[in-house]
Amino acid sequence: MIKQILIGAVLSLVLFNSCQEPELKALIVTGQNNHNWEASHEILSRILVNSQVFNVDIAISPGQGEEMSDFNPEFEKYDVVVLDYNGDAWDDVVKNRFENYVANGGGVVVYHAADNSFPKWEAYNKMIGLGGWYGRNEASGPYVYWRNDSIIRDMTPGPGGSHGQQHEFVVHHRETDHPILRGLPTRWMHSRDELYSKLRGPAENMTVLATAYADPKKGGTGRHEPVLFTVKYGKGRIFHTVLGHVGKEAPLAAQCAGFILTLQRGAEWAATGSVTQELPADLPNVAAPFILPSYKPYSLDELFRRAQTFKQGSSRKYLYLISNRIRLANEDPAKMKDFESRIIEVLESNATVDCKNYLCRDLSWIGSDAAIPILEQLQANDATKDMASFALQRIRE
Ligand code: ZN
Repeated sequence: MIKQILIGAVLSLVLFNSCQEPELKALIVTGQNNHNWEASHEILSRILVNSQVFNVDIAISPGQGEEMSDFNPEFEKYDVVVLDYNGDAWDDVVKNRFENYVANGGGVVVYHAADNSFPKWEAYNKMIGLGGWYGRNEASGPYVYWRNDSIIRDMTPGPGGSHGQQHEFVVHHRETDHPILRGLPTRWMHSRDELYSKLRGPAENMTVLATAYADPKKGGTGRHEPVLFTVKYGKGRIFHTVLGHVGKEAPLAAQCAGFILTLQRGAEWAATGSVTQELPADLPNVAAPFILPSYKPYSLDELFRRAQTFKQGSSRKYLYLISNRIRLANEDPAKMKDFESRIIEVLESNATVDCKNYLCRDLSWIGSDAAIPILEQLQANDATKDMASFALQRIRE
């Protein structure tokens, strides 16, 4: 029941920029991954919003093994779709919709393990250019790497996808005049990350923007592996970054300035074919990784503080992220109790009526007797009567 409510409510949140409304619309698709997608999609969202050129919506799929038929993102409403998804197959209708979106000129960002996904979906593999794991082999296409200033397409049989231990490595730009890379240092030290290697795929209409040397001392291939590249699919533009692993530990790879700048610029290029973002004064360099501290998931304190000013018609982002955190807490009693206390605190505060009404819905399924007094108070107020009654009824059921 819980999941149904939230999955039904899923998805649309529009982020507003304080000064001028950004013109480009990005959709992050996530919800299943062998990585920590709960953290990564929020990090990606922050990175894109901070570029000042994107509004961001998030589409979260049902969990692994769950019914997928309600999952049908409206790709064509967006300038770019950012894939942070590695999981169950989409329904044919969704696959067709995505293929049409890209073929007709839609932009795509393939982020890290998204290139593990959908090994059997032919069009998808053409879009990502290269992928790894899940049975990929010589039938998927060549290994692609960089040697003597050119691209090697190597049809040697063998599995696709590997990486050595996580480590810092230098990213070398190969198309320095490409709009995504123009003006950036041509080499920079990336923070601790997995260096995806031995990827294979159709590799058609593909331009390698940057490579990194996979050092055998770190379990690497001894080759320069492609880490940033673009692919053309129909009229669509795809920017593929294999960088940015996010696991349970601090997301250092996704906090690296080089990762962030190339993602922001790559997303804009995929959306429009050009890059208008100005370069910051501080750029990454080759001496040491340049780690930006701010791209982390929101803390619960921050989410609840920011949610309190929500007004109907403005961004539901923070409220939506709260609902999602509740879903991810997976009915853990201690976490549910904490969410309930936090919501009660907001209901007792000067938060907006719209915020309170929204949170009554979350409270309706996690609330206990502790929530009844404040809900009874809100029931006495015309502006909050309906949602408070709804919550009370469900708590008392
Ligand atoms: Zn990874």
